[in-house]
Amino acid sequence: MQTAMYRVLLYYKYVRIDDPEQFTAEHLEFCRQLGLKGRVHISAEGMNGTVSGTIEQTDAYMEKMKQDPRFEDMVFKIDETDRHAFKKMFVRHRKEIVSLGLEDDVNPLQITGNYLEPKEFMEHMQREDTVVIDARNDYEYDLGHFRGAIRPEIHAFRELPDWIRENKHMLEGKKILTYCTGGIRCEKFSGWLLKEGFEDVSQLHGGIVTYGKDEHTKGQLWDGQCYVFDERISVPINQMEHVVVGKDHFTGEPCERYVNCANPECNKQILCSEENEELYMRSCSHECRVHSKNLYVREHGLSPQDVEQRLQNIEAAQQHTAV
Ligand SMILES: [Zn+2]
Repeated sequence: MQTAMYRVLLYYKYVRIDDPEQFTAEHLEFCRQLGLKGRVHISAEGMNGTVSGTIEQTDAYMEKMKQDPRFEDMVFKIDETDRHAFKKMFVRHRKEIVSLGLEDDVNPLQITGNYLEPKEFMEHMQREDTVVIDARNDYEYDLGHFRGAIRPEIHAFRELPDWIRENKHMLEGKKILTYCTGGIRCEKFSGWLLKEGFEDVSQLHGGIVTYGKDEHTKGQLWDGQCYVFDERISVPINQMEHVVVGKDHFTGEPCERYVNCANPECNKQILCSEENEELYMRSCSHECRVHSKNLYVREHGLSPQDVEQRLQNIEAAQQHTAV
C-alpha cells in the first residue's frame, strides 16, 4: 500500500489577537517559508485555518504554533492524504474568523453551547426530546449529514440566524444539538441560540471530523460523506456503514460527486455522475447551458451546431426518464 506523504490540518482557536494585521503578514511569511498551502483567516477574535503539506512541513507548523502561548492548546485535526489539498497559500485578515454577520456579534469565549464529546453527542442524538440541527450550508448537508438532522435552507452561514427565526417552531421546547465540520461555526451559532432565548443548547466538540475518527462512535449515524472546503471536496466519516444520501441533480440517482456549474456566473455546486456531466454539459439549467461564457463549451471546443445537437440529446434523454 502506498503510504500517505501529505497531511491536511484543520484547526481554529478563539483567542484575543492584539495586532491581527501584523500577525497576518507574519503568518503568511511563515507558512510560505514552510511550503504549506491552504487558507487561514485571522481576526482580533482568533484564527481559523486549513492547510496541507508534507509530514515534515505540517509537524514543523504545529510545533511552532504550540510554542505561542495563545495557541499552545490549539487542537489540530489531522487527515492523511497523498498530495496537497490546495493550490496556493492564503492568509487573510478578516473582521471575524467565521461570519454570522450579526449587528451584535457573539463572543464564544463569553457565551457558547455546552460541549459534547462524540460519544455523548451520539447518545443525546438518539433521545426523544432532542433535535439535531446542521449548522452548515444546504450543499454541505446534501452530500452527508447526521441521520434525522434538520437541514437549514441556507447557502451561507450568515443566513442562518434569519432562517432560525423563521423556523423557530422546529426548535422550541426541545434540547438542541448543533454540529458543523470542525466545530468553529457551532461555537458562535450555539452561543447565538442561547442569546436568542433557547435554553438547552449543546454542540459537537471538534465537529464531524472528530466524530468520524472517534474510537467509540466510529462515525455511526452519519449518512453520506462530509463536505470539506479543499480540493478533496469530501471525506468519509462513518466507518461502519456507507449510506449514500446525495442525489444526482439531473436524475435523482444516488450520487456523491460534486462539480461546479459550467456557467461561471452561476458556479453552483451540483451533484452529478460523469455520464450526466457530459450529457448535460456540466450546467445546472438550460439557461446556464446556453450562457455565452459556458466553460464546458469552451473546454470541449463545441461549435454552435454541436451545442444545438447536445440540447437535442438532452431533450431526448429527458423524454426517456421523464425528469
Ligand atoms: Zn448554473
